[in-house]
Amino acid sequence: MKRIFPFLAAAGIVFGAFVGAAAGAVEKPLYHVVERSETLWQIARKYGVPVAQIRQSNGLRMPYRLSVGQRLRIPGRTVEVQETVLAPDDDYTEIEQLCKIYTRRRVRWMYIVVHHSGSDSGNALIFDRYHRYKRHMENGLAYHFVIDSGLGGPDGRIEVGRRWKAQLEGGHTSSKIMNKVGIGICLVGNYQKYVPTKRQLRSLCKLVRYLQRMNSIPSRNVILHRQVIQRHTECPGKKFPVETFKRMLRETA
Ligand SMILES: [Zn+2]
Repeated sequence: MKRIFPFLAAAGIVFGAFVGAAAGAVEKPLYHVVERSETLWQIARKYGVPVAQIRQSNGLRMPYRLSVGQRLRIPGRTVEVQETVLAPDDDYTEIEQLCKIYTRRRVRWMYIVVHHSGSDSGNALIFDRYHRYKRHMENGLAYHFVIDSGLGGPDGRIEVGRRWKAQLEGGHTSSKIMNKVGIGICLVGNYQKYVPTKRQLRSLCKLVRYLQRMNSIPSRNVILHRQVIQRHTECPGKKFPVETFKRMLRETA
């Protein structure tokens, strides 16, 4: 199931598969999400709004450098949004279904660790085989979740691994303790070279919010692989948009 909401499509965002049912539209300010190599000029022209106004309403200062994923308020423009899109309750029914577990575990999940696959394509099955046969992990797929990118699986699809279903510890970091208490989510892609897709980020936020709620995990414990103290790694890559991710998490709160 994929729905494209007018505002999100206009702003360059498309929801993944986990958008709840919508009812009743409301007017909301229009935001534009900056895409790769887009300039302020192009954005202003796209919406027919003077550059100066966009600068002003977003408090932009010289030299007006934009970053991919940055949200810009488009002054004087509103859009109809489906109010219940991010509603706290019905919103999560689908993801709840998806994340259903077979068994409870004694150890509490305390962290969420975000990874990239470091490969341009892939999916849970491919990584499972790799971890099982090449890395000799008896439980296979080292992560609890994989978010596909369109190369190897539908863009933004959340794949739930057996380690989550059976509430097994992960094999996604070289820290034994972190593997015990950290839920591992892997986004397919190599973010040393490029950024995740918008659908991947959306699905990631959705999943993280759900897991946070379910396990009472505070936001400071939503971390990147490279923040785990261990062997040096840049995972999930230099280009992973940390600030955008954090802002999106706050916004869907
Ligand atoms: Zn990693």
